[in-house]
Amino acid sequence: MSDKFPDHIDPLLFAERRSVLAGELNIAALERLADSVIDRSGALKIRIEFGKEGKRVTVSGHIGGDIQLECQSCLQALAWPVDISFKLSVVSSLQEAKQLDDSEPLMLDGETISLTALIEDEILLALPDYPRHPFECIERNRSEDADYGATDSQIKANNPFSVLAKLKKTGD
Ligand SMILES: [Zn+2]
Repeated sequence: MSDKFPDHIDPLLFAERRSVLAGELNIAALERLADSVIDRSGALKIRIEFGKEGKRVTVSGHIGGDIQLECQSCLQALAWPVDISFKLSVVSSLQEAKQLDDSEPLMLDGETISLTALIEDEILLALPDYPRHPFECIERNRSEDADYGATDSQIKANNPFSVLAKLKKTGD
């Protein structure tokens, strides 16, 4: 199997073939994570399975590895273990998305989806809002005169899938 992960694929075709993709994706390729990670080297292990449940096309998989975030207390690297399992159903409308009960919607707008964007979305949804070391990583007397401005990223607010997730939760 090639270790070059494909990006734009036809999920319906892959589902017909019950395709399984496994490989590594460079963290540097995940451009929407650029503001959140402190070190863009390295790669994540990806596994994606395409299938069908009745007429519904499903895309499920797992993302594993380590991402270096910036600790919001000391601004040093913070290793964040990525262990994300996901199950998505391909939909073509918001109405269809609201009907899902055991999976999240994956909007198909056109014929292909971007697997890179899909993986970015899953990671952005799981990223901690305020990553920090689980121990006292800066001395108290130094934190008084340091000015740590707000660095919270707005990436989540711009993520269409988080909007879908909200609609789904309130739409019951
Ligand atoms: Zn820290």
